[in-house]
Amino acid sequence: MLRIVLSSLDLIGKFLYLFEFWIQTNWFIAFLMSLTINLSVYLVTAYAIDFICKIISRDNKIAQYIDNRPFKKGQKSVEIKNGFIACIMFAFVSLFARELFVGVIPLSITDLLIEVLAFILFYETYSYWVHRLLHTRPFRKAHSVHHYSVRTSVWSAYSVHPLEAVLIGMSAPIFMLMFPVHLIVIFAFHIFGVVFTLILHSNIKFNSNNFFCQLINRYTQSHAAHHVIGNVNFGFVNAFWDRCFKTNH
Ligand SMILES: [Zn+2]
Ligand SMILES: [Zn+2]
Repeated sequence: MLRIVLSSLDLIGKFLYLFEFWIQTNWFIAFLMSLTINLSVYLVTAYAIDFICKIISRDNKIAQYIDNRPFKKGQKSVEIKNGFIACIMFAFVSLFARELFVGVIPLSITDLLIEVLAFILFYETYSYWVHRLLHTRPFRKAHSVHHYSVRTSVWSAYSVHPLEAVLIGMSAPIFMLMFPVHLIVIFAFHIFGVVFTLILHSNIKFNSNNFFCQLINRYTQSHAAHHVIGNVNFGFVNAFWDRCFKTNH
């Protein structure tokens, strides 16, 4: 038991050391580190979710795909290429976050909770309005890169125009300009955001009535409807703004 605790502490220590190194090193090394993390999380998580979806949807016993139409010819390779470019944009944008943080770890649980809550409120509002902006005439062409995927899969998640990737990534630096926040909070939200966006596009629907499965179904069906219908379900996690502006479907 003691050995597990000590090795966990050692791991946390190494993780924090990497953070400190990322803050202090030159911008190009910091960019390469961010790119490596973004690409690794994106590829490992996408392959894992894609693999799980294929297994659980076999014979439609545990789950099934919401949209069963065939993918467009060459869709997956286009999506992966766009995903790589999005990761490059996220890595560039992370350099702004490197200049704006107030510390690495919040000093108290209260600070942590306030920062988490403030970022959730900010991001739900930011992502809803940015997404609505992307559906207006000046940005429609850029956003059409994402809507090229009508039947989605995990690979559609970051199949976005570089401008859209920058808008997604800039949420953290914009928030940091208005609110003092610690890097670990932004990092954790970024990783959560990537994993959640991949699940959102997985196109999977569980057959079970279990609360957790139903929750996932609600998200995946809602976003699948956005890709099929268009001007509905702009929200990220919460449908609050969609309900307020009657864009929920
Ligand atoms: Zn859209
Ligand atoms: Zn989407």
